[in-house]
Amino acid sequence: MANTILVINGGSSSIKFQLFAIDPENQLDRRLKGQIDGIGTRPRLFAKNADGTCAVDKSWKSDEVCELHHALDKLVVFLREYVGRLPIAIGHRVVHGGAEFIEPTLVNTWVLDHLERFVPLAPLHQPNNLAPIRIVLERQPHLLQVACFDTAFHRHHSEIADRYAIPDRFYREGVRRYGFHGLSYEYIASRLRQVAPEIADRRVVVAHLGSGASMCALLKGASIESSMGFTALDGLPMGTRPGQIDAGVVLYLMNEEGMSAKDVEHFLYHDCGLKGLSGISNDVRELLASVDPRAKLALDYFAYRIALFAGMLATALGGIDGLVFTAGIGENAPAIRQAVVDRLSCFGLELSQPANAKNELRISSRGSHVGCYVVPTDEELMIARHTLQVLRKHEMPTERRA
Ligand code: ADP
Repeated sequence: MANTILVINGGSSSIKFQLFAIDPENQLDRRLKGQIDGIGTRPRLFAKNADGTCAVDKSWKSDEVCELHHALDKLVVFLREYVGRLPIAIGHRVVHGGAEFIEPTLVNTWVLDHLERFVPLAPLHQPNNLAPIRIVLERQPHLLQVACFDTAFHRHHSEIADRYAIPDRFYREGVRRYGFHGLSYEYIASRLRQVAPEIADRRVVVAHLGSGASMCALLKGASIESSMGFTALDGLPMGTRPGQIDAGVVLYLMNEEGMSAKDVEHFLYHDCGLKGLSGISNDVRELLASVDPRAKLALDYFAYRIALFAGMLATALGGIDGLVFTAGIGENAPAIRQAVVDRLSCFGLELSQPANAKNELRISSRGSHVGCYVVPTDEELMIARHTLQVLRKHEMPTERRA
């Protein structure tokens, strides 16, 4: 097989990965998509080829793959068998790059140590994103690794969008409105040029609705505002996170409920959002299937907040020409899109019900004043593209044998 780039998205008990071959024209061709999950419980390596056929499906006893480095070893063995050699580089999704890392960065020990400092800003994701980088750096120090940040695409926001109304010294320390899901928004901005050029250079609000959810204001393809801020807790309600919440609630939990900072952290990341509000599930599929009024309340709340933020982001843009839905819920849940757009009908948005039901690219009606779209995201392709660009920029060798 040609030279490859491996993309890794490290989670708490799983490693999601994709493998891209670099063709002679330097185009990326997805070859594999898979994950190792159940690390320490029911370890399983599973991957599909580009045509959807199974490339590997292997399970181990829990004590054979009980730590992340065991899982990475299994992945390396598989890739060596499958490709015949190691990838020329690994691109990693890293959720937080702080104020300093504003573009994809070649990782060395200094960079990694610096990125560890952002763990408190993304306690759910950052440690899991960095752990595989450190293991590879120790075991294969010559294998090139590129960190691609979810914050980077938003780092050119105006100062007014980047600040909280707190004393300046906190801003200088890095307490800023970073915004997240930047790799997804960057991909969507590039994809709009191909599939919806009529809005690609205009004022677009993108709703990335997955288990984490946020929204972004794109002006001529660049991010100018985000619903998220300092951490990935802000903005829209999510599967298990509340989204925007009065800081006074946090004070109440600590002062009146006697919760410690750690208790509050766990509560806000794991027990709130759709799960907390419904008391049923964090999964929109389950809530849509439920007849329980609490499921309806949670979904109504979700759609209401998305519409509110659409209005806020449209204000930042000075108007709106396009609304784009993406990620697991945005791409697959017509009922949620309909509920959001119904709430925006006062701004002239209207859906075509048949197009919406079929998850078509353009789902707005002919009479809608604003185009509404469904555009599947591809953060992994974005990471692979960035990794290739970094290699080219540094004039790195493109061949490495196992
Ligand atoms: P992440 O990458 O943040 O884990 P995804 O973008 O994969 O999340 O989205 C996962 C969520 O998408 C699930 O929790 C589920 O609520 C929702 N989802 C997936 N498929 C559907 C569907 N067909 N209908 C409604 N919601 C869906």
